Amino acid sequence: MSEYPNVRFITSANRREQFVQDAGDEVAVAGRSNAGKSSAINAITQRRGLAKTSKRPGATRLINFFELQPGRRLVDLPGYGYAAVAGEMRRHWGQLIDAYFGSRRSLRGVIVVMDIRHPLMEHDVAMLELASARAVPVHILLTKADKLGRGAASAAVAHVRRELGPGATVQAFSAMAGTGLAEARGVLGRWLSGRLAPTGPQKETPVGPAEPTGED
Ligand code: GDP
Repeated sequence: MSEYPNVRFITSANRREQFVQDAGDEVAVAGRSNAGKSSAINAITQRRGLAKTSKRPGATRLINFFELQPGRRLVDLPGYGYAAVAGEMRRHWGQLIDAYFGSRRSLRGVIVVMDIRHPLMEHDVAMLELASARAVPVHILLTKADKLGRGAASAAVAHVRRELGPGATVQAFSAMAGTGLAEARGVLGRWLSGRLAPTGPQKETPVGPAEPTGED
């Protein structure tokens, strides 16, 4: 059964006045368009269709607030880094994100979703800087781990850990194969319960399915 059986969509916000009341605890989820953010949210909450997955990258430009439990929220930030998004749209995205990071006192941590095959792209680094400016913990989901074999997935995790040092925790994840679900739920649960995530070196956990489902 889901840890959050009563998860529900609260509202979409296009500007600061539409954000839900800034009380309680919330965790934001960010990522490049098409990185697998919506699929990750749905897998973590075990609610298919909660966050809308899309074949059209860049389609979502709103902040979506979900209630996991009373006073505990998951906040789906609009995807970034999609080249075809016009200038005005990008400016709006920037203003909305700045309004969010500049104001939310209930923000307890940021989960950044990156395709395990293309981590740490320019906009990802900018997002990590926004989160670190807020001094909230960052956890990275390297998604679509099923696209790589175990060795390659472990190498990607190690690479991102090396690059970021103690600035973030990192794990392999696959919404499709269910890889890393418990670890991701653990981080979310700790942050939302007000307990800090453990710091220091992470122990290696096995990553990826036994057999890669895509080309390696
Ligand atoms: P978003 O734009 O970041 O919210 O990404 P979506 O969750 O909509 O996913 C974008 C595309 O990647 C969709 O075609 C998904 O089916 C696919 N995808 C998402 N997660 C996974 C995963 O874990 N494994 C694989 N192989 N594909 C995935």
